[in-house]
Amino acid sequence: MVDYFNSRIFLNPNEIPKEWVNILPDLPSPMTPLLNPMDGKPAPFEMACAVFPKECVLQEVSQEPNIPIPNEIREIFAKTYRPTPLHRALGLERSLGIEGDDIQIFYKNESVSPTGSHKPNTAIAQAYYAKKQGLQELVTETGAGQWGSGLSFGCSQFDLKCIVYMVRASFLQKPGRKILMRSFNAEVHASPSRFTDSGKIFYEKNPDHPGSLGLAISEAVEHSLRSDKARYSLGSVVNFVLLHQTIVGQEAKIQLKKGGIQTPDMIIGCMGGGSNFGGLMLPFARDKINGITPDIDIIGVEPRACPSVCKGIYRWDFGDTAKRAPIAKMHTLGHTFIPSPIHAGGLRYHGIAPIISILHNNNILRAVMHHQTEVIEAGIKFANAEGIIPAPECAHAVKETIDQALKAKEANEKKVILFNFSGHGFFDLLAYKEFMTGNLIDYELPTDEIQKALNSSEMPNIDESQF
Ligand SMILES: *Cc1c(COP(=O)(O)O)cnc(C)c1O
Repeated sequence: MVDYFNSRIFLNPNEIPKEWVNILPDLPSPMTPLLNPMDGKPAPFEMACAVFPKECVLQEVSQEPNIPIPNEIREIFAKTYRPTPLHRALGLERSLGIEGDDIQIFYKNESVSPTGSHKPNTAIAQAYYAKKQGLQELVTETGAGQWGSGLSFGCSQFDLKCIVYMVRASFLQKPGRKILMRSFNAEVHASPSRFTDSGKIFYEKNPDHPGSLGLAISEAVEHSLRSDKARYSLGSVVNFVLLHQTIVGQEAKIQLKKGGIQTPDMIIGCMGGGSNFGGLMLPFARDKINGITPDIDIIGVEPRACPSVCKGIYRWDFGDTAKRAPIAKMHTLGHTFIPSPIHAGGLRYHGIAPIISILHNNNILRAVMHHQTEVIEAGIKFANAEGIIPAPECAHAVKETIDQALKAKEANEKKVILFNFSGHGFFDLLAYKEFMTGNLIDYELPTDEIQKALNSSEMPNIDESQF
């Protein structure tokens, strides 16, 4: 019997998980190190600590299977937005003609956070560790603005100064995000700016330069290195960010059990750098690796315009265009690759988390891709059925979930599908407007263009025998 009155599954604040899941000791093949972009050698500990808060550097390589979540972080979660609800998507199921309990769709609703996405899960943790270390500011870049708003909020909780370099194109296009960040007392600069050497070269030639994520990263790293009380902060890709996001999957596990589900058959999430997908699926992936739930199907969804895992190659590459960010071994389209201007700004990254790459290579997860028009169409279907308009990034997961549910219905299969609702689309309504007015364009990335990007990339040559 379908029970509408128990279709949203809540936890009490005192049930907020006490540990993050660290997948590193359970990976089927060993983690690859982050390398110094200057010489291609593993970055020494002291050097990494000059860039990131020290505790994050330690977590990046920790072999502890479970890492305690400090109580101060749990307290901030408790008084602001965690635990987040797990919804049985009854409205969506009905809109797909699915009745009864044979096919069940659940989503973990990370859109209820103060800035509307999962990003504060790591922002709060990074701000806490920075404060505890006696630092005074965190510097970062933001493309679409979701990470910048998340970190601004995190810093505001610990009285830290937050400085955000925002890609000028979105600085102009998304005034709402900029105002939100400034409301949390962040200092927001359009990038390229005149405040750093990396930005100045471009700014002085053209003050209206649209900027790029690669450039904004370079400015943020440079700015953070100026003061020994400042550090650089990252919102995705690296191990410690995925670690902080596992609170999502930890909560979902408890909630599913409360809802009478021992384990889902399928887990779906959209992939930009891999943090919301990783956060939801890693606690389940550990059980899959260890043979507890060998059959669980784990699917990451990419835009067809930027398919790092589906069409990229697995190799060493720079984290940013300007070659200032660390070199990582990952699925990549090449660090000079500039994706088409799709609306899912958070999915326009040339690489992916090394953790996701390793799990993909070992067949623990698989990747699929979709066009942005079908994605936004799925977003509208979801909004009508469930009442929340998804961020364009998140709508990629919605699209794949709908496809999988319909496939199971056709085949008369029983299936429990869990997906991550990574964020709402209140700041991204332009994508929906363009869909409605027929102005949304699909971009496919042809294989020869990928080859071109990879060949033109001056890709780093790394001698792996050195580790
Ligand atoms: C940033 C963002 C993403 C993409 O980043 P991941 O690190 O891959 O999670 C996806 N959805 C939303 C709502 C985001 O803000």
